[in-house]
Amino acid sequence: MITVTTFGDRTVLVFGLGRSGLSAARALRAGGAKVLTADDGADNLSAARAEGFVTVDPKDADWQAIAALILSPGVPLTHPQPHPVVRLAQKAGVPIIGDTEMFFDMRAAHHPATPVVTITGTNGKSTTTALIGHMLAHAGIDVAVGGNIGTAILDLPEMDGSRAYVVEMSSYQIDLTPGANASFAILLNLTPDHLDRHGSMENYAAVKARLIEAADMGAVSVDDDWCANIAERLSDDGHEIVRISTKTTLEDGIFCQNGIVHVAAAGQSRELLNLNGIGSLRGEHNWQNAIAAIAACLALGVPESALLPALRSFPGLAHRMEQVSMIGGVLFVNDSKATNADAAARALSSYRDIYWIAGGKAKEGGIASLSPWFDRIRKAYLIGEAATAFAKTLDGLVEVRQCGTLENAVNAAAHDAAAEGAREPVVLLSPACASFDQYRNFEIRGDAFRAAVMALNDDLRRAGTRG
Ligand code: ADP
Repeated sequence: MITVTTFGDRTVLVFGLGRSGLSAARALRAGGAKVLTADDGADNLSAARAEGFVTVDPKDADWQAIAALILSPGVPLTHPQPHPVVRLAQKAGVPIIGDTEMFFDMRAAHHPATPVVTITGTNGKSTTTALIGHMLAHAGIDVAVGGNIGTAILDLPEMDGSRAYVVEMSSYQIDLTPGANASFAILLNLTPDHLDRHGSMENYAAVKARLIEAADMGAVSVDDDWCANIAERLSDDGHEIVRISTKTTLEDGIFCQNGIVHVAAAGQSRELLNLNGIGSLRGEHNWQNAIAAIAACLALGVPESALLPALRSFPGLAHRMEQVSMIGGVLFVNDSKATNADAAARALSSYRDIYWIAGGKAKEGGIASLSPWFDRIRKAYLIGEAATAFAKTLDGLVEVRQCGTLENAVNAAAHDAAAEGAREPVVLLSPACASFDQYRNFEIRGDAFRAAVMALNDDLRRAGTRG
């Protein structure tokens, strides 16, 4: 745990007692602060009480005595409207911060030279974060990985001056971390997402840009207009920015063409390494993640010769184009993490002969943007709330089957894929939707997909035994 001593013995209020909230409460208590806790949910309050924390109703708290409101990133700060606890803090002039801000405060106070890499962007954050962690560890660097991925940031091991930290940051976390000044900050891409929480694309982009602006150095993709503008503005302002691209050659920066990574400086480029054949980094989107990771590793002193072996041994992450099983020549791929159309586009562009399972809780924009890949879809198996809207978009272009549940969809898709004799049939769960209408989160949805595929496998085996 990273003990937080920056508040001394003053009183702080932690609101939102999920994984990161509770971890923040513990880190503050260990550092000597008087910790009050609050949440809208009875279960979370009980969990805090079970650990001996005092719970309060924010309306009744003595706000004059509170030094800071530690807000969970899941709680609306500005949009669609500030949560009542935010208004209470603002009225009393109490600063509102997140757990990541406390991490940066502790670093500034005690270990300012601690290397920290932050990763943000609309898609690819977790993959890139895990990849950098893997590559640094492979190069013999003591590294801790967390934040928005896996371990809450204050649950990571204490800073000791040399250990490096690789921290995934959602835009909600950036909002709550005004003091983030990473050694190296990555901005992967920007497409519309979470606009309900940020109000507008301009605001969403501005939030992400702040993270790069405050870092010693950064890598920014130039492959979408939003990021390209940020890269240009920050470079013009004198920030040290490594431009990255998978779409075009660059005069300066790191770019990837057909899987070959090049480093360019002052118009001269040279080949660095080849990503082709690395199964866990398949597809142009993963090349973007890989070159961002390469930029960070080089900045942290990893020698070029150590890069390729590290990339090659990256196992990949569950629920991101995860190859679950191959049954009778049909590949089953779990891409449950694709919760928006842009993420689903990556998977659709990586396979042919696709039996596509999609749907769930719809995101703004639907799936019209996926039309360039409709000709790869043999049939679509629709589930969840978005099924009717998706069927309308696909009408006359892709054959559709309404399946209701994921299990029905897996069975139907597996049956068709096995029967139709396509060259490389893939049953792909890449839902382009959030999971909340049917599953608590995308992990549980992906696990359900895996379980349904394994059940098919068992059925086939039993059928084989009987035969
Ligand atoms: P995040 O943590 O930002 O949600 P993940 O690494 O978990 O990103 O990947 C989420 C989804 O986005 C995956 O389904 C994957 O197919 C897609 N994806 C991964 N990397 C990228 C990228 N660089 N650009 C666009 N989509 C990506």
